[in-house]
Amino acid sequence: MDWMPPYRSRMRSEPTPETVRPLEPVGGDLRALLGTVSDFVTDVVDGLADAPASDATGVADLLADRSLRQPPPEDGRPLAELLDVLTGAAAKGLNPASPGYLAFIPGSGLVSAAVADLIVGVLNRYTGLAFPAPGLVAMEADLLRWLAELFGLPAQARGILTSGGSLATLSALITARQARLPANFLAGTMYVSEQAHQSAAKALRLAGFPSSALRVVPVDSGGLRMDVDALCAAVHTDRAAGLQPFCVVVTAGTTNTGSIDPLPAIADVAAHEGLWLHVDAAYGGFFQLTERGRQRLRGIERADSLVVDAHKGLFLPFGTGCLLVRDGELLREAHSGPAADYLQDITDSDLPNFAEFGPELTRDFRGLRLWLPLHLHGVAAFRAALDEKLDLAELAYDELVEHPHLRVLHRPELSTIAVRCQLPDRSGSDGDIATAELLRRVNAEQRVFMSSTRIGGRYYARICVLNHRTDRSRVTEAIQAIGHHASALAARSPRET
Ligand SMILES: *Cc1c(COP(=O)(O)O)cnc(C)c1O
Repeated sequence: MDWMPPYRSRMRSEPTPETVRPLEPVGGDLRALLGTVSDFVTDVVDGLADAPASDATGVADLLADRSLRQPPPEDGRPLAELLDVLTGAAAKGLNPASPGYLAFIPGSGLVSAAVADLIVGVLNRYTGLAFPAPGLVAMEADLLRWLAELFGLPAQARGILTSGGSLATLSALITARQARLPANFLAGTMYVSEQAHQSAAKALRLAGFPSSALRVVPVDSGGLRMDVDALCAAVHTDRAAGLQPFCVVVTAGTTNTGSIDPLPAIADVAAHEGLWLHVDAAYGGFFQLTERGRQRLRGIERADSLVVDAHKGLFLPFGTGCLLVRDGELLREAHSGPAADYLQDITDSDLPNFAEFGPELTRDFRGLRLWLPLHLHGVAAFRAALDEKLDLAELAYDELVEHPHLRVLHRPELSTIAVRCQLPDRSGSDGDIATAELLRRVNAEQRVFMSSTRIGGRYYARICVLNHRTDRSRVTEAIQAIGHHASALAARSPRET
């Protein structure tokens, strides 16, 4: 049944502000509203297996649709009607919730985390400081402690949940800047690999550094991991030129190919050179829950700061990243200031005032987005799902590497592989064109959606398996579609390419 605001007629005929509270449905009205939402959510989730992984058709018509783009009306409309508008609006573009979504770094969206968001909004407790909601702040602080322990960080580590990896990186670099450089920090230099995510360079810029502060270190050709000798050389050159090297960013799971920079070796360099060791594990970090991941991420426990994205590796809906800092006091010093008079009611406790550890003051009880799914499903369910993603990427590699007209970049370290067409008797650039065409054809079928990138100047299609809904059958479907179209492209006459 549609949830119809019951107050509309009453509002018009007899305005009685004391009794009519149109913004607060209660009792049966509230139950009807939630029932409509419950039906909507169930239909969306039940329909995901058959929903297109992407749909780029008809976007102009959608954007011209007036029901979608009108100012809010004076009188409310039924919720079911609004959900129809929303369904139409969401139908076009990419669908990261689909099991066929293998593009970029998927963020699939656990429904239990969405339920947590609803509960958080209804409770609406203030968690920027500890005293307004000590129980909830304790839950979130314990969760951050659990994460710090997962990565082997010491007891004095502290962290914050952010809206994503980029903001977590910004807070990390500001902390590094404060900890390692003088007040005039303009001679500071930071080191990233060629394959690092652009959020590191952006955070450096936002932290006030000139673009000349960024050093881009080459990667090895075999695994696309940071070249440690080149890192040392760059640090020495800069120091000899009077600059102040202060931070190195290790990418633990590059966005392009899931490559993991040599963590222990770079940690040694950082220790020797007095550099802040920042680990960008936004994509790869939560593989730490698996045995294979823990092996491959060895050295992560030496991070001064560490970014992980729960909206990637924990399958949460978009909007949750995490920063962990080895010496929590440094994080606090970088984000707190003198006490404000209007906050004089704060009483000190052992609980963290999250506002002192990050840029936000007022914030939602973000922790429930992790707490509820982790407690509801149990950690083993996440471990198994992440293990499955590693297996599925291996499966895709093993199958595609056998194809005579495909070249797969290297065995996946995590859950990403890069693949391109290798057609007989044709130059490399033809391979680029053919790979773009392969991608277009596979995506057009709408069962899977892949993205592309450039590696060493060459065009590659990427498969990243990180959606909790992506199963063996869908990956097999993707492998078959890629193989089929690669063969078809290879069979075309050379003049057509
Ligand atoms: C996704 C990603 C980021 C950025 O995180 P957002 O949550 O998108 O802000 C940073 N680094 C790596 C390696 C990533 O994959």
